[in-house]
Amino acid sequence: MGGGSGAGRPRARVGLGATRALAGFCVAALLVTGGWWAQQRARAKAWAAAVYSLRGRVVAVDPGHGGIDPGAIAASGTNEDTVVLAVSLRVAAMLQQAGAIVVLTRTGDSDLAAQTEGGPTARKRVDLRSRVALINASAADVVVSIHANHFSNPAEHGAQTFYNAQRFRESKELATVMQEQFQRVTGETRRVISEHIDHYVLNHADMPGVTVEIGFLSNPREARMLAEPGYQERIAFAIYRALALWFARLPQAPSPAPSTPAVPGATAALAPGGGAVPGAVANPY
Ligand SMILES: [Zn+2]
Repeated sequence: MGGGSGAGRPRARVGLGATRALAGFCVAALLVTGGWWAQQRARAKAWAAAVYSLRGRVVAVDPGHGGIDPGAIAASGTNEDTVVLAVSLRVAAMLQQAGAIVVLTRTGDSDLAAQTEGGPTARKRVDLRSRVALINASAADVVVSIHANHFSNPAEHGAQTFYNAQRFRESKELATVMQEQFQRVTGETRRVISEHIDHYVLNHADMPGVTVEIGFLSNPREARMLAEPGYQERIAFAIYRALALWFARLPQAPSPAPSTPAVPGATAALAPGGGAVPGAVANPY
């Protein structure tokens, strides 16, 4: 008997210890879970605020090339103009869904110099000037020019964001957010932002902006991915997300860099009070 009850006590003590440990674990788990949920809620609220900041904003989306100019061509036959248009249309749809007004420089396989006579160089010049004229006439708050890269070394890969901070300081901030989103959303790039670009659109647009090279068509694996609708959606979401986060963080209307003259149209376009424009349509150009 005595041996039996003596054997029972330690078991009871072990049981109590285990219960306490279990209770402690549960409290810790609840605290951790509670903290996680609070963090998730805060993130969801911040993201909702970022999406809301897109309402009424005018965003110029410029799919590079088109028409007689296919841009870079992958060994598989995928053309840059086709891929960047597909991504641009997805970006436009997401932005419109959030209440932004989207100005697309092209919506089909055409350049903006279709009626111009002359060689390819002259047409390209007219095409770029026409894009800038359209973008500036729209008084957009921001411009995103979308391209795909090509390089002699097929190992090069990854999306990269370019900017011209000589025109607008905010372009560098947008480029930084954009590159972060390419890294997070696609998980396919370790590239960093760069100012090494001489792009007519960035140099002449009257508002902040970036040029994104969404990947390398000279890299066979990336060329395959860029042609896939699922990957195009991820790239487009990264661009959309970056724009939302950038607008949300914008402390005030973008202003030209000190070295450049003021561009009245740009600041006027960013004046608050534009109002929400739900379901805005893409431009008809
Ligand atoms: Zn290009």
